[in-house]
Amino acid sequence: MMIHWDNIELPGSFSAEQDVPLSELTSFRVGGKARFVVRPDSYETICDVVSFASANGIRCMLLGKGTNVLASDRGFDGIIIRFDTPLHEPVFRDTSVIACCGTSMTVLARETIRHGLMGMERLCGIPGTVGGACAMNAGAYGAEIRQILKRIRILHDGTDEWVDVKDGDLGYRKSVFSYPDAIALEAEFCLLPDDGTAYETMHDCMERRRQKQPLELPSAGSTFKRPEGYFAGALIEQCGLKGYSIGGAQVSEKHAGFIVNIGGATEADVSALVKYVQDVVRERTGVELEPEIKRI
Ligand SMILES: Cc1cc2nc3c(=O)[nH]c(=O)nc-3n(C[C@H](O)[C@H](O)[C@H](O)COP(=O)(O)OP(=O)(O)OC[C@H]3O[C@@H](n4cnc5c(N)ncnc54)[C@H](O)[C@@H]3O)c2cc1C
Repeated sequence: MMIHWDNIELPGSFSAEQDVPLSELTSFRVGGKARFVVRPDSYETICDVVSFASANGIRCMLLGKGTNVLASDRGFDGIIIRFDTPLHEPVFRDTSVIACCGTSMTVLARETIRHGLMGMERLCGIPGTVGGACAMNAGAYGAEIRQILKRIRILHDGTDEWVDVKDGDLGYRKSVFSYPDAIALEAEFCLLPDDGTAYETMHDCMERRRQKQPLELPSAGSTFKRPEGYFAGALIEQCGLKGYSIGGAQVSEKHAGFIVNIGGATEADVSALVKYVQDVVRERTGVELEPEIKRI
């Protein structure tokens, strides 16, 4: 539906930036402009924006740090809620911690280790927010959010409530706490007393990331989900696609599981490369690669 913006006035309850390049909001550094971007300064603001958008037929999108998304070259003609700042400090109680979903996952993981807890050390280095990690059931080096997430405060159908996490709520790189089904506001994690290995494990995982991943170039992390019984990066490399590029998008020379922006990539470049890789891998190995990255 076409929105007639001239007839729409934003309410005074939140402030918005206009015409913000999505390339500034996403780690891929790709995409056209967002009509409006709101950075919430309270949980009520998030609720107000969602209600306002829904009452006016305006498209709305929720982003954390934008590290798992590919934004359209056409931009986004609606309101983006950029929930990437903590609204309060983490609250520790015994071996549990409650964190705002705008908190950086890496900052929270480090903080839990400082508090003598273990369970998040392998997730340190995932560059998104706590909300993005819950939405995606982020995981690394054998650890996943679903192993430690106990309760989550969500905004869902206009209701703001804490829910206990049940078996099946989170699956491989997906969860029921993901926008547009829900907005994750706060999350409670159940951890364990540190047995003395947490810091070293965190350090080791961060070092493995630095050595194996193309952290020096813009990307959205692993482009494809891990196909059962295989590793996406190994299949892509085996097909001779390491370093293959279309426009400014390239299959990383360092890790074939990542598509990177080597300069001036557009969404069209990335999408064409994703499709090319899928086609070649299907043809040569019979394996179907499914993208892990979300689209705006
Ligand atoms: C260099 C690099 C390395 C990476 N390594 C890993 C890794 O090891 N493991 C891994 O799992 N991922 C990895 N990623 C991908 C990404 O960092 C994770 O998926 C991360 O959890 C996304 O968080 P975000 O805040 O950036 O979410 P965004 O990218 O902003 O959003 C991702 C999705 O989650 C939704 N969402 C975000 N916040 C919320 C919320 N509060 N409530 C509801 N929905 C929400 C968005 O609408 C969107 O659909 C990596 C990415 C990069 C660039």
